[in-house]
Amino acid sequence: MSETPFLSALISVLSPQQVWTHPSHADRMQAYEQDWRKREHGKALAVVFPRTTTQLQAIVRLCLESGVSIVPQGGNTGLVLGSTPNSMGQQLVVSTQRMNRVLSIDADNMTLTAESGCILAHIQQAARDQGLWFPLSMASEGSCTIGGNLATNAGGTQVLQFGTARQLCLGIEAVMPDGSVMNVLRGLRKDNTGFDMRDLLIGSEGTLGIITKAVLKLWPQPKAQIAAWLGVQHFDDACHLLRLAREHMGARLTGFEVMNPLAIALVQQHVPHLKQPLPQHSGWHVLLELTDSQSLENLSADTQALIQSCLDSHLIQDGVQAQSFQQTQQLWHIRESIPLAQATEGLNIKHDISLPISHMSSFVRTVESDLQKLIPNVRTVNFGHLGDGNLHFNVQAPLGIAPADFLDQYEDAVHELVFACVEKHSGSISAEHGIGRLKQQRLQQHQDPSALHQMRLIKQALDPHGLFNPGVILSSPDTMER
Ligand SMILES: Cc1cc2nc3c(=O)[nH]c(=O)nc-3n(C[C@H](O)[C@H](O)[C@H](O)COP(=O)(O)OP(=O)(O)OC[C@H]3O[C@@H](n4cnc5c(N)ncnc54)[C@H](O)[C@@H]3O)c2cc1C
Repeated sequence: MSETPFLSALISVLSPQQVWTHPSHADRMQAYEQDWRKREHGKALAVVFPRTTTQLQAIVRLCLESGVSIVPQGGNTGLVLGSTPNSMGQQLVVSTQRMNRVLSIDADNMTLTAESGCILAHIQQAARDQGLWFPLSMASEGSCTIGGNLATNAGGTQVLQFGTARQLCLGIEAVMPDGSVMNVLRGLRKDNTGFDMRDLLIGSEGTLGIITKAVLKLWPQPKAQIAAWLGVQHFDDACHLLRLAREHMGARLTGFEVMNPLAIALVQQHVPHLKQPLPQHSGWHVLLELTDSQSLENLSADTQALIQSCLDSHLIQDGVQAQSFQQTQQLWHIRESIPLAQATEGLNIKHDISLPISHMSSFVRTVESDLQKLIPNVRTVNFGHLGDGNLHFNVQAPLGIAPADFLDQYEDAVHELVFACVEKHSGSISAEHGIGRLKQQRLQQHQDPSALHQMRLIKQALDPHGLFNPGVILSSPDTMER
């Protein structure tokens, strides 16, 4: 089928308003063709906006007949080039933006069912409206969708207690590459009925199916939430503090974020209106979040006791405890402003890595020292969810060197060095952002060969024509060109 009949067929199963094409919609299509970090601007054959599973199924069937490959897209906030088309102008972007309803909340079963294009913040709000809580939370929550969260197995700020998106989902519905609708949209906490197809699709980044609905787990609204901002001298001290906080607070410790001195200095410099909790502190910073389902008084007293004992033992040099919900939000806002501050400072070389917490200190020491040997005076912006063993380890040009030149000269060498160190410390090259097209080649280098082979077999079995997000996670000669 040539391009025009294909587009006409799309319009006939949808409506003209649901199919955007070049050149008439070129301006509006740009946001769907460019990735969040503006690293790449692709070109789509068209962007389509199905409203129902049936419409999405019809689109997939048309693509199957015509051999057109599909790029599923939610909020397009992904950071690894998984949700935007390549530059060939032949891929169809399927946006779930108009499949955006919360369908039901079952307060007895503590579940919420939503369409996959539902914005994460809307899901959180719908749960709150019923006195319940959906804990998945991240800085992109005003734009990202639950379908994208599941497709990337997103992490965020609450992993310590609640796990990643995978642990928060009980069932899904998805349109599969053969055009069928797979309905395992069940709100069951126990369901041992063969291979877990839900788990297979979660984290598959749109390469094995397009998620259309999900059943999510809810919790009672916590009665109390407190944040504290503490200053420690070294990274090792932050690891020690994490152990102590776990011992003292148990499951009430719901967040443990760490930030190196440069990360905070850049926020001070580039986002100066944010009031720093510890303006004089020159070491590492830790943001603790504590949550209690019973009483604010107990939580507050226990948090103060923890801070006092850490001050007494000189594990921390300084610390403040938020006194209100607003202050808690302000502390989180500082942490979440690091990526913006860093972007303002200039392009940098990013890594979203995962390590056993017991290997973290050795990793940071080794990688910092090896980097200095490779590039004297190189700067590192190191922050992340230490409680989950996840660091955003970003490498910034030495002062006086233009960021673009720095990337040109060192990007590959820095990735090699950092990922080799990650491997040596039994870590993973992608903690929560996924692989996308950006890290696809790195995955070939660092994943176990047998695991890679099994992944290829699964992809081949479910998507033999390679039409679902080709080039994402895996490459193959026949999928790379699509
Ligand atoms: C400021 C900022 C902060 C962030 N913080 C975090 C964080 O703390 N933790 C974290 O994990 N991530 C974070 N991210 C990354 C990103 O927000 C998450 O990966 C998010 O889950 C992506 O959701 P999305 O709807 O935007 O998906 P998209 O970006 O649209 O897509 C991401 C991937 O999922 C696929 N996909 C999308 N929808 C579907 C669907 N319905 N079915 C099948 N495949 C689909 C796409 O093809 C693509 O491969 C952050 C991003 C930004 C910009």
